[in-house]
Amino acid sequence: MKRLTINKQILQDELSVELIGCIDEDSDFKELAGLGQETISFDFDKISMINSCGIREWIKFIDLLPARCNIVYKNCPQIIIEQINMVHGFFREGSVIESFYAPYYCDKCGKEAKVHLKSDTVKNRKAPKSDCPNCGNENIEFDAIEGQYFSFLGKI
Ligand SMILES: [Zn+2]
Repeated sequence: MKRLTINKQILQDELSVELIGCIDEDSDFKELAGLGQETISFDFDKISMINSCGIREWIKFIDLLPARCNIVYKNCPQIIIEQINMVHGFFREGSVIESFYAPYYCDKCGKEAKVHLKSDTVKNRKAPKSDCPNCGNENIEFDAIEGQYFSFLGKI
């Protein structure tokens, strides 16, 4: 059974793709190749898991896209940001990471929060100030190593 759902929508020059579920060895991106739009954007918001075989499938697919194709990454969860940071080829040079999630921790309510950030709000690899979405506590703590987590921004 396929664990990845691919929803695609063609908007003139842009192919907008929503990825849902798990990226693994059964993930097949073939249907997205050769569609010829200038820009292809991927919404990773509903990706819950990616394994090493999935990473390989993804890189193979990205490699097949024509060089002139603009690739946009949207709403990347932490697991996707980690691949972008660590795995060579997961992110093609010249692509755009529009928005992503960053891990924070609120010591007032003791909950972790995934805060949605636009890439252009992060300066010098410092986590932007954020309030707890749960209890409203102001200026909660970033829950990873900033220089490491935001290192992908140097790739843009
Ligand atoms: Zn809180």
